[in-house]
Amino acid sequence: MKIGFIGTGVMGTGIINNLLTAGHELTVYNRTKSKADNVLNNGAHWADTPAKATVNNEVVFTMVGYPQDVEEVYFGNQGIFSVAEPGQLIVDMTTSTPSLAIKIGAYTDKNGLLALDAPVSGGDIGAKNATLTIMVGGNKTAFDKLVPLFKQVGQRVNYFGSYGAGQHAKMANQIMIAGTMTGLTEMLVYARAAKLDLPTVLETLNSGGAANWSMANYVPRILKGDYTPGFFAKHFLKDLRIALDEADKMNLNLPATNQAKQLYEQLVDQRNLGNDGTQALVKLWWES
Ligand code: NAP
Repeated sequence: MKIGFIGTGVMGTGIINNLLTAGHELTVYNRTKSKADNVLNNGAHWADTPAKATVNNEVVFTMVGYPQDVEEVYFGNQGIFSVAEPGQLIVDMTTSTPSLAIKIGAYTDKNGLLALDAPVSGGDIGAKNATLTIMVGGNKTAFDKLVPLFKQVGQRVNYFGSYGAGQHAKMANQIMIAGTMTGLTEMLVYARAAKLDLPTVLETLNSGGAANWSMANYVPRILKGDYTPGFFAKHFLKDLRIALDEADKMNLNLPATNQAKQLYEQLVDQRNLGNDGTQALVKLWWES
């Protein structure tokens, strides 16, 4: 298949490499070209703009950072919609707002394109190893066509309904992760203060009722002093803000998620550590 892909960061790179391995022809664009070196060395072609990455491709994927980046690559001057043709499939994998997915869907419905919002879970490791979980909303025909492609980059793909439903599913995921990240952090702070052997604590908890993906994947990094992303703390704060904003619209009060947001605000806005991975939350205790 001929595929355009915009966003060659941590997640995009892993996904693109798996699509290349599966035999697809990829044309990529990224704001900072040097971050595309890895996939260009693996056989992807370079395009100078999102528009050029769109032309002549059956499917166009986007995996950028924030909703405003999504807005720019779709609706901007040199954006996807400046050149997209009826029948093209457009898939936003960025974790973004349900309302922007609905706006993209309204545009594609009007112009004969087929759009999906398809955010993912599974981290940098999932992107690299093609073990992502993919949460999809949008055009059902597009979904049915793309399931085989999704299976080449992920191990689970579920359809949740119309435009924005994939982003809502991702927000449910991030509300859960708020609990696992704050849980693993306070667990470590407590265990170290109690002078327990931390690798043994990790091994023990991993095989009991407290086991979870965040602890299994991030605590080993913390124990090695590795705070590189993984998943940028600044992106997790973005997600918590979107989740709480959406909860607000549904008249829901989520105090634990709100507390997690405040902790990540301390880390990102006050300590300026947004480019660390989410596991850096423990620095609020260990480096204060
Ligand atoms: P990342 O490494 O920052 O990658 C995003 C890439 O998009 C960057 O290379 C960035 O370019 C590019 N970009 C941003 N705006 C652009 C624009 N207007 N035009 C062209 N390129 C643009 O972030 P990531 O970790 O891959 O995450 C991507 C998305 O997936 C985020 O929404 C994140 O919340 C979500 N996500 C991440 C994980 C994870 O574990 N990492 C897991 C699930 C979901 P520059 O290089 O110029 O900044």
